[in-house]
Parts: sequence; structure tokens; C-alpha cells
Amino acid sequence: MRQRLSQHALLLCFGIFLLFGLYIATVEMRPGRLYFIVTYLLFQDSLARLLIYLLVVAASLLGLLFLFFNKSRTLCLTGLALYVPCLAVSLTYRFISGYNFMYPDAVLAWNNLALADTAIQNFSWQIVAALICSLIVMILIQWARRRTTWRAPIWSALLVPFTGLAVFLLIKRTTGIVDDFPALYRVPLTVLAVASDQLPQPVRTPVSVSPATSGVPHLFLVVDESITATELTLHQPQLPTTPFLYSIRDQLLDFGIASSFTNQSAGSNIALMSGTRPEDMPDTAYKTFSRTNLFQFAQKAGYTTYYIDAQQGGNGLQNFMSPEDLKYIDHVERPGAVHPDTPYHQRDMLVAKRLAELAKSPKKIFAYVVKAGAHWPYARTYPQDSTFFAPVLSPRSIYKDKERTLNTYHNAVRWTVDQFWRRLMGNITKTDSTVILYTSDHGQNLTQAGISIAHASVHETSPQEAAVPLWIWDPNQLTGKSPATAYRKGYSHAHIFPTLLLLQGYSPVWVRKHYGPTLLDKDLAPISKRTFLAGDLFGRGAHSLIPFEYAF
Ligand SMILES: [Zn+2]
Repeated sequence: MRQRLSQHALLLCFGIFLLFGLYIATVEMRPGRLYFIVTYLLFQDSLARLLIYLLVVAASLLGLLFLFFNKSRTLCLTGLALYVPCLAVSLTYRFISGYNFMYPDAVLAWNNLALADTAIQNFSWQIVAALICSLIVMILIQWARRRTTWRAPIWSALLVPFTGLAVFLLIKRTTGIVDDFPALYRVPLTVLAVASDQLPQPVRTPVSVSPATSGVPHLFLVVDESITATELTLHQPQLPTTPFLYSIRDQLLDFGIASSFTNQSAGSNIALMSGTRPEDMPDTAYKTFSRTNLFQFAQKAGYTTYYIDAQQGGNGLQNFMSPEDLKYIDHVERPGAVHPDTPYHQRDMLVAKRLAELAKSPKKIFAYVVKAGAHWPYARTYPQDSTFFAPVLSPRSIYKDKERTLNTYHNAVRWTVDQFWRRLMGNITKTDSTVILYTSDHGQNLTQAGISIAHASVHETSPQEAAVPLWIWDPNQLTGKSPATAYRKGYSHAHIFPTLLLLQGYSPVWVRKHYGPTLLDKDLAPISKRTFLAGDLFGRGAHSLIPFEYAF
């Protein structure tokens, strides 16, 4: 009888643990984030680190159970009192952005405590909803406690601080990459990690020079997402991923297969925006944050500045941008936030439409666009009825079959690059006086199968992760360069910032002196050696400079 009872109790405990684990994994953590961390650790770190992470997650769950079902009622109530605000913060972010409170949120929040009032006003209903949900969870836990006779010994609650220490060390060691844990641990410990490891946020250096000419009236930099140059018809004529672009290739100033600054979105974007130089990388001195950015130069040259982010569904800032950057941006637009019901794959088409409108503005316009592009999972980045290459991966596939992965990716490129450009070029005419620079933040390593990540790797990184397209579309020949004269070798992201300054009207001599050669130099000698940074732009965590060796 006693044996049956204890078996029964054991089963009950196991059941509670499973149910509670399921709740934590879906509500307090995110299955997608969990999947990312598991693959990141397994393929970019080691099996041992993965096992440590899983062990800490399991211990954190057990710790919570030991706390909430502790013999000591005081300990349980103290735990709940700490738990409710943590869960409320986590859920507030989930309601705002679709993601739980994570490391980048902590960075932003910590750097902008002065704006807390405004944030609380702006997101009041999300905060109230999160508080209500947290209180309901608290009531449910207390109800479950009353219905259960099992109690954990008092000393077992010690698991919480011990696990907390392990969680803190994991977040700290990976600068927030491994950050998905139950809210009671994640919220305070992420803030603590950020506070002790924060990125500086200096005021950017003001523009020290005046433009020499009036510049191009409408100047757009379009930074695509995860577009690999090697997969475009321009560079693989037998592969029909971008047949439209191939058909009008004589209208593009194509600079071949260029190398990106880094193989990560955030590092590449902030470096493109800030004029980071290759010799600064890894930028351990954080020069990127105090450099004069594109928007400052544009405003000084009389442009109205736009930042269009097609990736964010909410109003968050990404790619290391801060309110300091917003000071120089006249209009921030996020099509996904304005049109929440539009499918993800339509966001780039909204961008094409918007750029065509801006091209007709009587004002001088400078726009920096973060396209939605072809970020993994590829299947959501194009409409199903635009499937051209088959068979494809299922939208929720975790396993990457090589052929299906390539097909799915090629469909994504066909839609998000070729269709985007078809719409853009169809709606901007010569009389619109527009010049568009185009690149991607990084490429994709498409040679792997199984469960793997395709960019942002820090071990055995493939140069394909940095192989990005780079071209200028200049229908009015405002750059003074004709497509036939474009030289297609040796370019990188580093050429973009000085080219944009030139097109904004700054003196070529001054630009060259401060930022090196541009895409428009007549006497350009191709750079013999290109490198890109695998890992964090600021050299936090594992990183290395990798030679970029492509014939183009
Ligand atoms: Zn990216």
C-alpha cells in the first residue's frame, strides 16, 4: 500500500513537472528561441555546453517547483511576490513585440531609464494585461498548492539561488545569446548581466564638414536580409532565382559578389550606418557608437531622413540602434507595425510601394531600409502560390534536407529580391531623380544539411555567410557612371558609406581621406584581401576575422 502510494506521489510529481515545464516553455520561454539556442550551442559551441544549458533549464524548473511547493509557506509567498513582477515584465514585452524580455531589450531599457515614463504611458494596456495574466498565474499556482499534499523540504529552495548563479554565468558568457530561461530567472539576471556588461551609448560626433554640391535628390540604401549573392541569376545565369534582374542587368551598376562586414544582422547594419572601418573590427573600443552616422550627414546635406524597418512587427529598435540614433532620423516607419494583418512576405512589397512614393517627393530624401528579406524559416518569406522550385521544406521544418532547403531558399529569393525589384523599378522613373544602393546584411551558408544554422556561426564559418550582392540602380545616370564601366571585383560593405556621402554631395577628396575609396572612384584598384568578422562586431564572445575568398 505504502509502495503504491509513493508510486502514485512520484507519478503526480512527474505530471506536475511536465505540465509546469510545458507552461514555462511556451509562455515564459519560446519554442522558437529554445530551438535557436539548442542549435546554436550544438553547432557553434559544443555538445557539453548544450547539455549544461539543458541541465540548467531543468534545474531552474525544479527550483521553481521546490519554491512554490515548499513546506515553508513564507518561502512560497516570497517566491510568488518576486515571481509576479518578473512574469509581468516578460509578458509585457511579449504583448508588445511577440518576444519575451531578452538581452537586447534589457540593453535598451537600461540605457534609457529616463524614458521609462513615456514607455509606461505608450504601452499601458500591454502592461495592465501582463499584470492581470501574472496574477492569474499566481492564483493558479496557489490553487495547485492547496490541492496537492506534496511539499518540498525547506532546504530544497536553495536550488533557486544556485541555479540563478548558473543562469547568470550562461547569459554573461554568451553576452545574452543563451538567455531563454523561466521569467523569474531571466528578467532580473538579464538586467544584471546587461548592467555589468553594458554597451556604451555616447553622443555621436557632429558632422564637421559642409557638402560641396547639392547631392542626389532621392537616395536610398536598401539592406536586404540573408541574401546570398552566389544564388542570384546575375552570378549563376543558369539558376532562375532572379530572372527579372538578369533581364535588366545592363541597367545595374553591379559590383559583383561583395563581402559583408560581419555574418550577423546587427553588426553589419550598425557598421553600415555608422561608417565603421574594416581596420576597426572587431570594434572593441566601441568607436561605432560615437562615429557620425549616415543620417547626420544626410540631415546636414539638407535631406529629410527615413528609417524603414520591414522586419519589426512592433516598435522596438534593433541592430544596436539606440535613441541616440533616432535623434537624427526624421521619420521611422515599420510597415509590419502599421499593417499587422499583412502577411510577412508582403512587407517588402509595401516597402517597394513606399520607396516609389518617396521617390516622387519634392523634398530631398535619404532612406535607410532594413528589408524583411529571406530570413530562416524561408518558407514564410514568400507566398505559397509563388513556389517555383520544388520540393520545398514544410514551413515548420527543423531538419534541413539539402535539396529542399535550397529550393525553399531559392523561392524566397525569387520573391523577396526579384519581385521586389520588379515592383520598385516599375514604379520609379527617370524623372524621379533617384539612386538606390542595394546590398544584404550577410549571406547564408547553403552547403549544410541536418539541423544547422546558416549564418552568424563562429566556428568553421563559410565565406558564403558574408557573400552579399552589391549594386547601384541609377536610372537617371546621376552617379556619372554607366553600367558598362562597373568593375566587378574586390568590393565590400566598407565601400558603401563613403559612396553614400559622395552622393549626398560631400567632397570626394574629403570623403576619400576619411572613409577610403568609394564605388564610384575611377581609378579604383581592387582590394586584394577582403576579410569579414564572424561573430559579434564588438568582439564579445567567440569571434574571428575570416578571409573572404571569391573570384568576384
Ligand atoms: Zn540578418
